[in-house]
Amino acid sequence: MRALVTGGAGFLGSYLCERLLEAGAEVVCMDNFLTGGPRNVEHLLDRPEFRLVESDLAGYVHVPGRLDLVLHFASAASPVDYLRYPIETLRVGSVGTLHALGLAREKAARFVLASTSEVYGDPLEHPQKETYWGNVNPVGPRSVYDEAKRFAESLTTAYRHSRGTDTGIVRIFNTYGPRMRPFDGRAIPTFIRQALTGEPITVTGDGSQTRSICYVDDTVSGIMAMAESDFAGPVNIGNPDEVTMLELATTIKELSGSSSPIEFVERPADDPKVRRPDTTLAAERLGWRARVPAAEGLARTIGWFTEELHRHGHLDHA
Ligand code: NAD
Repeated sequence: MRALVTGGAGFLGSYLCERLLEAGAEVVCMDNFLTGGPRNVEHLLDRPEFRLVESDLAGYVHVPGRLDLVLHFASAASPVDYLRYPIETLRVGSVGTLHALGLAREKAARFVLASTSEVYGDPLEHPQKETYWGNVNPVGPRSVYDEAKRFAESLTTAYRHSRGTDTGIVRIFNTYGPRMRPFDGRAIPTFIRQALTGEPITVTGDGSQTRSICYVDDTVSGIMAMAESDFAGPVNIGNPDEVTMLELATTIKELSGSSSPIEFVERPADDPKVRRPDTTLAAERLGWRARVPAAEGLARTIGWFTEELHRHGHLDHA
């Protein structure tokens, strides 16, 4: 088995590279280091089956040799990142996806698209089933990400139907774990960083908006199950346990033994009010469900951030 992971030096991509290597695969990790970096995969660099290639997927892309699997994960993913790189996000979601699909077709490889719960926008249906079409503002600030992923889903489906490519689409819900960047703007790393450094924990709005958070090991198992199947999807990969942002902030504060105060700040535009996957399809078609309870996953993540803090003396912006 020889696999290409686009965005392989990012948070999720680095775990996928690891999991593929563990399963005995050869891995080509392609990344332009826009929001990820070699640091995430440095522990894999001396493995002969692992190759890190710095390349922009939206530019000229060539991968010599055979490929059996393409996991297309390249894209800025956190709101802070995609608002900083709006055109890059649209470009990798559109042209980058076209290139990744072209490669999969050329090599007759299975292709898995990392889509997102953001395709549901601010959902009018709750919990979200794969049959729900979503509620996205096409000119809102988040549209650069949401619409890029919606386009990528459409393109993937078109390759399946008109080119016969073996494709799968996973709609990933909020995932957390070690290796998230402390300043990537997502709630969990932000709360943990604030809790560990004694800063106020900033909850947006009144904190009643919900998210369903999935520990990275679970998400990666779901993606691998999709990669090993021939299912087209789309399929939700996420943990259905729903928490309010205020509950999440309070849990993180307690688990890290922090005395940081909780502060309420303005809520960003078009921020979804609720988010919870219906994971019936993943259970039926992939035999997968999330297993790691939030308290355990959060404790592991806090442990990793604490080690980083001790190792570097600070949590940096990288
Ligand atoms: P990340 O930012 O850590 O990783 C994305 C990687 O893609 C980075 O290493 C970045 O440098 C790379 N990249 C961006 N543009 C590229 C380009 N043009 N060419 C090559 N590489 C490029 O984000 P992540 O959280 O690991 O997310 C990975 C994928 O999973 C994304 O496609 C994201 O949309 C999707 N996803 C993630 C989550 C989550 O909770 N983490 C949820 C839903 C979907």
